[in-house]
Formats: sequence, C-alpha cells, structure tokens
Amino acid sequence: MLVSSPQMGNVHFFLQDLFERLGVDYLFPPPNSRRTVALGTRFAPEFACFPFKVTLGNFIEALEAGADTLVMVGGIGPCRFGYYAETQRRILQGLGYQFEMIIIEPPLAHPLLFYRALRRLCPSLPLFKIYREIRASFFKAQSFDFLEKRALEVRPVEMVKGETDKVLAQVFEELSRAKTEEEIVEARKKGFAKLEAIRTKGKPCLKVGLIGEFYLLLEPFANFGLERFLNQKGVFVERAVYVTDWIGPSSTNPVQGISNEEIARAAHPYLSHFVGGEGRATIGHIVTMTQKGFDGLIHLTPFTCMPELVAKSIFPKIQSDLDIPILSLIIDEHTEKTGFLTRIEAFLDLLAWRKNRKITPRSTFINWLSNKREKKLATYGIKRR
Ligand code: SF4
Repeated sequence: MLVSSPQMGNVHFFLQDLFERLGVDYLFPPPNSRRTVALGTRFAPEFACFPFKVTLGNFIEALEAGADTLVMVGGIGPCRFGYYAETQRRILQGLGYQFEMIIIEPPLAHPLLFYRALRRLCPSLPLFKIYREIRASFFKAQSFDFLEKRALEVRPVEMVKGETDKVLAQVFEELSRAKTEEEIVEARKKGFAKLEAIRTKGKPCLKVGLIGEFYLLLEPFANFGLERFLNQKGVFVERAVYVTDWIGPSSTNPVQGISNEEIARAAHPYLSHFVGGEGRATIGHIVTMTQKGFDGLIHLTPFTCMPELVAKSIFPKIQSDLDIPILSLIIDEHTEKTGFLTRIEAFLDLLAWRKNRKITPRSTFINWLSNKREKKLATYGIKRR
C-alpha cells in the first residue's frame, strides 16, 4: 500500500510523520504547480470550487507517481466539502485509475466511520497504539503551526531580508527529525529560541488580518504566497485559521488563540448560525480583529464558495458599523499572480494613507460619526479598542 494525500499548507508534515509511525508507506504529494491546476480543471466539473480542482490535480499526480491509496478528509455541513472525496473517487475511476480511496470523517461527528478508515489503513495495529501515535504526530504538527505563527511576527521586522525563512527551514528540518514527545518539546524550544535570536528593527508598518476560506488561507500556492509577500513589505499578518486548529478535535484553537465559541459570539450580531465552511468564522474574525486594532483585512474566497458568499453579503453592514477596510478577492484557476498582488499593493497604499491621514474638519466630522457608531455597537456588546 502506497498512500498519498492532497497538498495543503503544513498538513503533509503531519501525515508523513503519522504514517511513518503507523508503518504505512506514504508518498509525499508532488508540489502544487500550474500542471496540478490544469489537470484538476480539465477533469472536474466546471462549477466545482477551486480547492476541489487543485486537490483532484494532486490525486492525479500522486497516482501517476505510483500511489495506490488516496486519503481524503470528509466533512459535515451545508457546503460542498463533504462531497469532495466521493466525487473525486468517481472522476478518477472514470479516468481508469486503479486505487482505493479512504475517507477520514470527523471523529466526533462520525466515530464509527472514522474507526473503519483507521482500520483500513492499519488493520493489525492495536487501537491504543494508533491513538498514541496520532497524539504524538498531532503534537508535532501543532509545533510546526506555533513556529510558523511566530515567524509571521518576526519576518516583517527582520533586519536581514530572508533570514526568517532560512531559520524557519532549518527549524522545520530539526523538528521533522524529532520522534518522541521529549524530542519534539526540545526541538520546539530550540526553534523558538532561534526565531527570537533573529535581529529585528522597529515595528511593522501595518497590521493586516487574513480571513476567508480555509484552503486558500492555508495553501501558499493557492494564495500566491500572500503571507510572505505582506511580511516582506513590513506588514504584520494574522491568519484566521491554522492546520491543527482546523483538523484538531478541540474547538479552542490553541494556535490561532480564539475559540470557536468566542468567534461565534463575536459574529452573533450579524450572523447567528452556522452556514458551512468558515462563513460564520469570517464574520467573527472581522469583529475580533477590528477590536484588536487591525488596519485592514484581506478576505480570500474561491469562486462560487457558498459560505463565503453568505459572509460577503454582510460585509457592507459590518464595514459601515466597524469602519474597517476589507479587500475581498475571489480566486479560481483564471486568477493570475501579478493582477492579484497588484491589488494587494494598492490596498496597502490605501491602508497606509488612512493610518497617516491628517486631522481636518472633514476627519473630525468622520470621528464624530464613528463615535456615534461606537455607541450603537455598544448596544450589541461590541467594543472597539
Ligand atoms: S468552503 Fe467553499 S470552497 Fe470550500 S468546499 Fe465549501 S463551498 Fe467549496
């Protein structure tokens, strides 16, 4: 059995480590490229969401490279994510590939299906050993996320351009080699120390939050390396979702730092129920990031993404209440890097202008309006810092 999976952010670090521990051969998915997108787009339904097309392209490339078993996560809720695995399985079978598709359903929602999937991957291992190895691998994957988050804070103020990336690659390499829990803790501590030792200057010129659909936020290929691009321009970036928060069973989101419950509470005045995907979280993050004093937000959404369309329809109201600039960008297979990054640059110019604008009679009037708005928000229990 040679198992492979789609490429999404740091998730392959977790899967590679886990399968090694479970004694299952794992094929590192070929890196995302224009070819991956072209293959996915060619065989996926035209109206499918962009992440569906890229992950289908991943599967085709993995099967061409010799994989015979594909692992995909399942999903619950009103959006199309829960249909990905089954639809992809049918498309690939139609193309004549011989393989087995294993769908990992959310363990709390479908414990039996989750158990069956584990048993298909490692039929003879005792359950407690599988549990122990999943725990260790998850802890390691969480360490990758924590280190990556710290790098996002250091990179915009590094003195020597590119130093954070070099240190991060080295730290990730050392963490990949760690096996036991003690080794992981040690590698993580050393990693943090190395990131702290990077020489920095001043403070970031702007604070920008990245919100929206999780695949686009997590996969640098799909968002054209947006985080690095912003960091290199001296902008502090906070991302709304991390891989281990997303796949983890707890809803406390230790890496991101805000629990699902807090996000839902923040979103409540505008959107009071779950709409699938990250729709409600997008609204909640707009409120919490505004309270934290962010200068602006960038919202990424795949073309035709239902939950993000619901969230987007609330943007005019929330922007008028909170006075926060939001740039919403739709991404699909036709999006080009140059056009995308040019719009980001223009947005940064606008944020810088807004931050440094002079006090004029007009801005005094705007402040008066904004104070009025704040009083209104206080009636919802929302407070701006
Ligand atoms: S969240 Fe959006 S892009 Fe992702 S599967 Fe659901 S509809 Fe598609």
